[in-house]
Amino acid sequence: MTFDPSHLRPATRLVHGGVQRTHHGETAEALFLTSGYVYDDAEQAEATFAGKIEHYQYSRFANPTLSMLEQRLCLIEGAEECRTMATGMAAVNAALLSHLKAGDRVVASRALFGSCHWIVSTLLPKFGITADFVDGGDLAQWQQALSRSANLVLLETPSNPMLELVDLPAVAALAHAAGAIVVVDNVFATPLLQQPLKLGADVVVYSCTKHMDGQGRVLGGAVLGSKKWIDDVLQPFIRNTGPALSPFNAWVILKGIETLALRVDAAGRSAAAVADFLAEQPGITRVWYPMRADHPQQDLALKQMTGGGTVVTFEVAGGKDGAFKVMNGFQLIAVSNNLGDSKSLATHPATTTHMRIGEAERAKLGITDGVIRVSIGLEDVEDIKDDLRRALNLL
Ligand SMILES: *Cc1c(COP(=O)(O)O)cnc(C)c1O
Repeated sequence: MTFDPSHLRPATRLVHGGVQRTHHGETAEALFLTSGYVYDDAEQAEATFAGKIEHYQYSRFANPTLSMLEQRLCLIEGAEECRTMATGMAAVNAALLSHLKAGDRVVASRALFGSCHWIVSTLLPKFGITADFVDGGDLAQWQQALSRSANLVLLETPSNPMLELVDLPAVAALAHAAGAIVVVDNVFATPLLQQPLKLGADVVVYSCTKHMDGQGRVLGGAVLGSKKWIDDVLQPFIRNTGPALSPFNAWVILKGIETLALRVDAAGRSAAAVADFLAEQPGITRVWYPMRADHPQQDLALKQMTGGGTVVTFEVAGGKDGAFKVMNGFQLIAVSNNLGDSKSLATHPATTTHMRIGEAERAKLGITDGVIRVSIGLEDVEDIKDDLRRALNLL
């Protein structure tokens, strides 16, 4: 018997969602580390392939541990269906390539994760799919780009690393009128702080590598949407191209998700406190955090998010030299390009994650040489502040 927690609150769904106990009655979710499945007889195999009975066939198509993770993600996102994949990028790639064909047109926000930007600007055009980029925070640019017909809109809100927001209901209305589906990369918000499907999006993608594992162990990705789109469009693509998630990694993510609400809440509270702290420090020229009164889109943040998230971005005086001095002065906060970890991590986007997009594109996104992104972890917030204070004193 599967217990149905769909009427219960989000934190409860994160612990109980999707559990399929075997006859052994195990407490924790079972790890089905198996590539294939056997049938009672040839007739059962025939009926399975004919779609007459439900039976696992091969772990490239489906696996019970992955099914548990997928059902749990559906429950917290409020989605009909979910498929998990080996990485966040495999998820984005599958969502895009399964839906698009030669001659199609994509409109995307400029402030995309680097590899998402590469798929749209470099990979898709090789297959005859054109792409236009807009400044995600500027509705007039969306309006103009979507005054012609389009097939798919890809956006990220809040964006990496400048935490710029996109007005989801407004852009979804424009996209639908243009004939496009809306795909939202919801990594920075997590399903706890923003639920794009309820705000008009059609498909949501995640890197489970970030807050869902949340402890820096495994890679994973997920795509969520309507049952019809997943069954008809996405499932045939992943079944035949093979971006499958390892059952072991799915199991690690399942256990990570049990504490997602606790971790995102704690790290989010610390991030808000760190943003307020940084705004008071000498040597800092600007702080970006979605819920702060000085964020240019605070109203929108309050409308479509229930928290500002776990990342704080700030700019120090002195450009790259200043930023490197501060980053090299951290003792607790580690220099990394990752985020969404229990350990606080600092990134200098201009020389790492956003190095490849070039200076002109960085200027358009507001990524100056003095910008530092900090993903706040689960350490005591006073220790994080002490580390920042010590490093900023080096300026
Ligand atoms: C990390 C990340 C991805 C890619 O995820 P991987 O699991 O590293 O492949 C995509 N989008 C955003 C916003 C990310 O932070």
